[in-house]
Amino acid sequence: MAYTYDDQNIFAKILRGEIPNATVLETEHSLAFRDIQPQAPVHVLVIPKGPYVCYDHFASDASDAEIVDFNRTIAEVVTSEGLREGGYRIISNAGEAGVQEVPHLHIHVLGGRGLGRMLQPAR
Ligand code: AMP
Repeated sequence: MAYTYDDQNIFAKILRGEIPNATVLETEHSLAFRDIQPQAPVHVLVIPKGPYVCYDHFASDASDAEIVDFNRTIAEVVTSEGLREGGYRIISNAGEAGVQEVPHLHIHVLGGRGLGRMLQPAR
């Protein structure tokens, strides 16, 4: 399935500078900023600057340089936010089942407290 990217999504607007954000780190290919409704003491979103809908879209179509930059940015955020020692969780929601609200790939980096179990048991 080919992905169609909606360039009116809110993260595309952030990347174009149309909406403000609380930047944590910016690199050539990636941007990290604070989630507007944090679910933990540390809740940072890391996004690629390119037009990728979700994780598998990015992992399939992005250049090696983008993929390396994105992953290194996540690692730098983990370090700069002081999460190495206490641990953290990274999450990327995709599509309907994943309850993805914004159709531009983003990794949630969460930490700063115990985060509980990842999922509820299946019903
Ligand atoms: P998801 O459900 O994985 O698509 O998560 C989207 C995330 O984007 C949510 O955690 C929102 O709180 C966050 N969000 C939405 N708008 C903004 C914004 N303008 N700045 C920062 N985070 C945002």
